[in-house]
Amino acid sequence: MDGEMDRYSRQVLFPEIGSEGQKRLGESFVVVIGCGALGTVIATTLVRAGVGRIRIVDRDFIEYHNLQRQVIFDENDVRSQLPKAVAAERHLKAVNSSIEIEGVVTDVNYTNVERLVEGADLILDGLDSFETRCLVNDASLKLGIPWIYGGAISSYGMTMNVIPGETPCFRCIHPKLPSSGMLPTCDTAGVIAPAPFIIASLQSTEAIKLLVGAEDVSRDLISVDVWQAELTRFKITARPGCPTCQGKFEFLEARSGTRTTSLCGQNSVQILNPEGSAVSLDELASRLRPLGEVSQYEFMLRFLVDDREMVVFPDGRAIIKTNDESLARSLYAKYIGI
Ligand SMILES: [Zn+2]
Repeated sequence: MDGEMDRYSRQVLFPEIGSEGQKRLGESFVVVIGCGALGTVIATTLVRAGVGRIRIVDRDFIEYHNLQRQVIFDENDVRSQLPKAVAAERHLKAVNSSIEIEGVVTDVNYTNVERLVEGADLILDGLDSFETRCLVNDASLKLGIPWIYGGAISSYGMTMNVIPGETPCFRCIHPKLPSSGMLPTCDTAGVIAPAPFIIASLQSTEAIKLLVGAEDVSRDLISVDVWQAELTRFKITARPGCPTCQGKFEFLEARSGTRTTSLCGQNSVQILNPEGSAVSLDELASRLRPLGEVSQYEFMLRFLVDDREMVVFPDGRAIIKTNDESLARSLYAKYIGI
């Protein structure tokens, strides 16, 4: 047996995959959106399983409090101030150099989601934002690409496959957007690592099933509580009047989409560059140096002024340490001023 098939030999022995299933995995293109606790487990599982092409999209950089549950990252990544998508690409290329792995550092929003998932066989959800999930749901149904929802918090989580034209969609089960601050977050409720791990494992299993063409993919909403060791399956039905199922893609078409977002778990506000154009970190650094403390890295610039911390990325996106969105907007206008 040559090296490449030997790599997958134990998985090929599993009859539901076999050599035909392995070949299909190798020909598949998967996009993982969000590379936190869920996304790292999904990405490492699918890279090791031999999915031929994997794109990992994430907007954040790695912090110490991520290491408790975000399995592919380490302390060096925190010290190097690496974006999660870049660190994921580097680590996973060392795991499997025979497939194509691409990390993309960006915020997923209505301007770019279709481009990011175009041509994919499957989208995996590693997000922490309800609104962005609705956007992914829109893109999935519009482009006819299945996606696998997953979410975890505290000791529990949920997952569900959304297969356009076959299953109910995310908005069938969530007709209304929760008002901001109403949902618990990892920040307010905490999270133990096994909860996202088990949800991501279920998502990865369903991903492999969908990619190899298994007939018994789940059509249920699956809920797991690891502390109670409970798994529950819920039958779900399409909701009459669901806008997305009727081809109304409200989140994709929200041309005035959110430019300012509070970030889950970070006591931070993200601001997108309203012009959508790139910035030169070198120029910005020399402009800001007389005003405060500037640390420049390969993929970002950190700026400290009056006890306020700002991180700026080359696409003009900034993350500002505060809970106050209007303060964040004014700091952005004052110092970054795009
Ligand atoms: Zn629907």
